[in-house]
Amino acid sequence: MAPRTRFAPSPTWAPHIWHLRTAMYAWLEAKKNGWIFFMRLEDTDQERFVAWSADILIDCIKWIGIEPDEWFMGENVPEKWEYWPYVQSKRKDLYKKYALELIEKWAAFYCFCPKQQEVSEVTSNLHDHNCRNLSKEEIETKLAKWTPYIIRHKIPLNEHIIIEDMVHGTQKIDTNTLDDSVLLKSDWHATYHLAHLVDDHLMKTTHVVRWEEWLPSLPKHTLLFKQAWFEAPKYVHLALIMIIDKETWTKRKFSKRKWDPGVIDIMQKWYLPEAVFNYLVFLWWNPWEWETKEFYTKEELINVFDLADCNKSWALFDIEKLNWMNSKYIANLETNELYTRIEEYLTKYDKDFYENIFSKSTKEFNIKILKELKTRLRYLGEYKELTTFIYGEPNARTDLLLNPKMKIDNIEIVKKWLKLALDILNSDSLDFSELDNIKDVFVEKIATEWLKNGQVLWPIRVALSWEEFSPWAFELIYILWKEKSIQRIQKIFEKI
Ligand code: GLU
Repeated sequence: MAPRTRFAPSPTWAPHIWHLRTAMYAWLEAKKNGWIFFMRLEDTDQERFVAWSADILIDCIKWIGIEPDEWFMGENVPEKWEYWPYVQSKRKDLYKKYALELIEKWAAFYCFCPKQQEVSEVTSNLHDHNCRNLSKEEIETKLAKWTPYIIRHKIPLNEHIIIEDMVHGTQKIDTNTLDDSVLLKSDWHATYHLAHLVDDHLMKTTHVVRWEEWLPSLPKHTLLFKQAWFEAPKYVHLALIMIIDKETWTKRKFSKRKWDPGVIDIMQKWYLPEAVFNYLVFLWWNPWEWETKEFYTKEELINVFDLADCNKSWALFDIEKLNWMNSKYIANLETNELYTRIEEYLTKYDKDFYENIFSKSTKEFNIKILKELKTRLRYLGEYKELTTFIYGEPNARTDLLLNPKMKIDNIEIVKKWLKLALDILNSDSLDFSELDNIKDVFVEKIATEWLKNGQVLWPIRVALSWEEFSPWAFELIYILWKEKSIQRIQKIFEKI
């Protein structure tokens, strides 16, 4: 039977970068080795359960391009999947059955202590529960009286357990340092410890990939599998993600409370999923050719990725680096493909702009804009902001025409340069469909007048864009075409 690995998120909030990362790493390893990759929804913690979270998780997984072989998708799931259901809240009865079996196997015990003690997981003596050694008769009497109970893990005392992690290595743990954790709560909901044991046993998981927060639980889980006489999966605990705090400029753990970017933010800004995939893989893992090759397709990653080579230590999530990588991916997209993606973005997130501006312009015009913006967009969600000066009719800004730093300080001279631009734009010899032609004609004319390119082009660019920063004057003329370019320069000309 093929090995099986899984991604098992808890739907407690909007998905975070580490969710994507964990899913991607498990999926890559599965694809590379021909394993089965499945997804299980771990919604046993009813207090932290957030209803919409599962749907968003599904969107994120689809967006990044992962296709699980088996998963929990919606209500109408193909029941052909052998280990169905993949949602823990639908497996409640199973957990109780296995908890009782663990008692039979001396791996767990009934705990009848009052509520107060039930929640106190750590006491001065970790095994100081009255109930650990109750006799069979005492237990039966309490059960007959309907005394409420929970079921706890019975940690074997004075032993050592060897834990193994594919990335972190092997460690010997003294069992006396482990507490008798709750396995089944009084409402018969399983805790993660029990649910994980039962599900990964029944679903025949051979490899568990999860984030490092679970590493301290590994001794308990290793023990549980042993005490239950189940074959334990191999574990990989992936290191944490850090971020530089914008207030203190120090490193800290990712936090949703501090509004660190989540997957939804990244999707809504319309980063390219292939760029995000590439970036996240490289946060904890490098192939040997790392020095020379930074851009990998998913297929290439499947070939070279190796879970066992992941970094043990945390990685720093750097949005600037992601922006850089994403902009390279955008620049490399074929323009028609970029056009389609921009359309998808606008129809989803900015219908108004799409209907009233984008789709009212000709495709030819939009494509020209895209060709010029291709190397400037950090993510596609920036499109509207970066093109306001192209599509819109903003107010002509005369304040930017002079630029003392560039020694442009005489408005009469500026007027002359603008006039020169108008003459070129009005001449029949200018071919507006060729960026290079526009550039050549302007550069030649400026040279014959013994002027400096930088100086002359500054007010022309300002007159065309009305912005302090924008593409070059030639690029603007190429995008705006004859009529619009002339109109804009004339408009500012009349104001000075
Ligand atoms: N449900 C756990 C979490 O979201 C994952 C644990 C696991 O993958 O085993 O943290």
